[in-house]
Amino acid sequence: MLKTHLQYQKANPQNPLQELHFNGKSLKALCAQYTSPMFIYDLDLVQNRFQALQSAWPQVQIHYAMKANSHTEVLKKLKTLGSRADVVSGGELKKALAAGMTPRDIIFSGVAKTKAEIELAIATQIHQINVESLPELERIVALANKMQKPISLVLRLNPDIEIKTHKYIATGLIENKFGIEISRIPELLQIFSRSQWVTLAGVSLHLGSQMLEFSGLQEALKKIKVIFKDLQKKNPQCQRFDFGGGLGILYDEINPEKELQMLQSYIAVVKSELSDLPGVELQTEPGRWLLAHAGILLCQVQYIKKTTQKNFVIVDSGMNHLLRPTLYESYHWIAPWQLAAKPEVTVDVVGPICESSDFFAKARKLPELSQDDFLIIADCGAYGASMSSDYNLQDRAQEVLLTDC
Ligand SMILES: *Cc1c(COP(=O)(O)O)cnc(C)c1O
Repeated sequence: MLKTHLQYQKANPQNPLQELHFNGKSLKALCAQYTSPMFIYDLDLVQNRFQALQSAWPQVQIHYAMKANSHTEVLKKLKTLGSRADVVSGGELKKALAAGMTPRDIIFSGVAKTKAEIELAIATQIHQINVESLPELERIVALANKMQKPISLVLRLNPDIEIKTHKYIATGLIENKFGIEISRIPELLQIFSRSQWVTLAGVSLHLGSQMLEFSGLQEALKKIKVIFKDLQKKNPQCQRFDFGGGLGILYDEINPEKELQMLQSYIAVVKSELSDLPGVELQTEPGRWLLAHAGILLCQVQYIKKTTQKNFVIVDSGMNHLLRPTLYESYHWIAPWQLAAKPEVTVDVVGPICESSDFFAKARKLPELSQDDFLIIADCGAYGASMSSDYNLQDRAQEVLLTDC
C-alpha cells in the first residue's frame, strides 16, 4: 500500500532500483548527506490543503492552529496564503509575530494562560482571547483594567458532547479540562459588566482532534448556536463564531477521494448550522488537516534484533521525535526509502529511548530490512516535531524543507 504523496519511482533510467519520492521529489540528496533523523516538509502540499479548505468556504477565516507545526517557513507560507493563527502559549504568540503574522491575525486559546501571557496578548492587541474558565476571565478583566487597554474575548464553551476519537484528544466533554460549562454563563456575564475594557465578542468550541465523522459536531453547533443567539440579544458586539479545528486525516488508508469527501461533509455540516448567521465572523482553527500529509520523518536502521519472540527493527528515532504512536497508539505508515525485492517480515519498529512504549509500529509487515537502510514514516507534518522532546538527551530531529534540496 502506497501513500498518495509517497510513491516509488525508478532511481534513474539506467538504474532499475525504486526509490520513494515525496510529492514527486527525490529524497536522494537528503539520504546522501544524512547524519541524523529529519522531518522533511513539502510546502506545496501545505498550500494545496489550505487552498482546498479556503475555497470550500471562502467566507471563513482560517486560523491555523500552530501547535501542529510551528516551523517558521510553514507559518510564513500560510500567512502569504491568507491564513491567520491560533496560538496556545506566549511562546507561540511571539513566534507567530516573528514569522510575520500581525496581532490582528491572532487568536489565543489554551486553559492555563499566565498573567505574563495575558499581558502580552493585551499589550500587543491581538484579535481575541478565547476564554476557558471563570477565574481566567477574572484575571483578564483585572489585567485589562490595570493596563487600560481593550481586548476582545470569545467564550470557549464546553458543549458536553462526545466525538469518536482517541480519549486523549477528545476535549468537548464536561469531564475534560477545556471550555466553560454552559450553566456558568450568567456568572460570566456578571464579570464582564465589571470592565469597560473587555468586549464579549463571540463564542467558540473545539470538540477534539482527528474527527472523521461529524454528527457530534453538528449536535454541538446546534447547542452552541442557541446560546450564541441568546448572547447576541444583550451583547451587540457578540459577532464571532469560532467552530474550532479537529478535522481528521486518514493515516491508515490511501484514499484521497474519501478525504476530500470528508472535507465536503465537514463543511456541509458547519454550513447547515451556521450559514444563517448574517454579519457573523466565522472562524476555524485547523491544524492536523493542513499539515499532517505535508511532512515525513526520515530515519535510519541501526540494528535488526531477532529474539525468540520478535523481530525488532531498531532505528535512530523514536518517541522523542514522534510521540503519537506512544501517546495515542496511533498508526503511521512506514516504508523503506529503497525498494528491494525482499520477502516481507513481521517486525516491531522501535526507537532508542529507554521506554517500552518507544515504538513506531508493532507487528508491521515490511520488506526485510538491513542495518543502515533508510525508513520513511509518513504523515508526520502535524504533531511531529512540535511534540518532540530532548528525553534521554537525544538530539532533536532536524527540520528541512523539500524545496531546499
Ligand atoms: C489543537 C487545537 C486545534 C487544532 O486541532 P486539529 O485537530 O489539529 O485541527 C484547534 N483549536 C484548539 C483550541 C486546539 O486546542
